[in-house]
Amino acid sequence: QSKGRGRGCFSFFAPEMQSRADERRRLEIALRAALPRGELALHYQPQVNLHSQALAGFEALLRWNRPGNGLIPPTAFIPLAEETGLIGSIGDWVVREATVEAARWPAPLCVAVNVAPQQFQDGRLVGTVRAALAAAGLPGSRLELEVTESALLEDAGWCTRDQLQALKEMGVRISLDDFGTGYSSLSQLRNFPFDRVKIDRSFADDAAVVRAVALLGASLGMRTTAEGVETPEQLERMRAEGCTEAQGFLLGLPMPPEEAAALIRRSDDLLHKPGEVG
Ligand code: C2E
Ligand code: MG
Ligand code: MG
Ligand code: MG
Repeated sequence: QSKGRGRGCFSFFAPEMQSRADERRRLEIALRAALPRGELALHYQPQVNLHSQALAGFEALLRWNRPGNGLIPPTAFIPLAEETGLIGSIGDWVVREATVEAARWPAPLCVAVNVAPQQFQDGRLVGTVRAALAAAGLPGSRLELEVTESALLEDAGWCTRDQLQALKEMGVRISLDDFGTGYSSLSQLRNFPFDRVKIDRSFADDAAVVRAVALLGASLGMRTTAEGVETPEQLERMRAEGCTEAQGFLLGLPMPPEEAAALIRRSDDLLHKPGEVG
């Protein structure tokens, strides 16, 4: 046990730290290659209108099909993409891919795309969105961009607000994602004309918070989406407390584009009753 202890002290920690750094480097190299290799994919999670019960659209959620590692969720690689700047090219791809897919859906179904704070920094986002809408033939009104409060907090001179305003002028709607998890929620809501507030799923069981945010949203002219609805009880609560849309595993998991297309066909059948023409 005591033999070679001097070296043992070192080798007990150092190799582990080394392997963690190696793993990070491997991940970065693999992530850099993921886009050109076509390993990134978008899954689509349904968003439902709580008043009409109709499908309103889908949120595009990034997945990485890393060979030998299965389908990797965004939480496992987006932070690294942000740190390395890869989020710029990945984010551009997400916008192009999601708009092309949404253009295949019947109007007025919308696609919601998550935008990282860093995407505002290089000033390309507005141009990317404009070009993507034109290339896909999708009206701006069928695209929604989801930003988090940190995007606004990190607004240190790259004019996030001006960019959001330019996007709104194209008809694109702007949602405030994960509302309630940041720390300047109310001032952000007052300072920017968001079209939608998405109530973070950690409040799915808190009727008082949901009611307050739905009321606040309504009084500011914003729609409210309840995130993370997993049970019929939560769905009923969100409707009762005044949310306008809901999203969650109860209503549908994030799914590949073919399954989303099939869901759209089925929901069309539900709306147009059997025997009805058109
Ligand atoms: P988000 O934008 O808040 O997306 C919702 C997340 O909650 C998704 O996780 C979704 O699968 C999960 N979710 C939906 N319904 C339920 C539910 O009923 N219960 C629970 N427990 N979870 C639910 P996902 O796909 O792992 O994405 C995590 C986060 O990664 C997203 O949170 C978003 O912040 C980020 N993200 C995803 N795609 C992109 C992207 O294309 N670009 C950027 N910048 N971020 C992305
Ligand atoms: Mg989101
Ligand atoms: Mg969210
Ligand atoms: Mg989230």
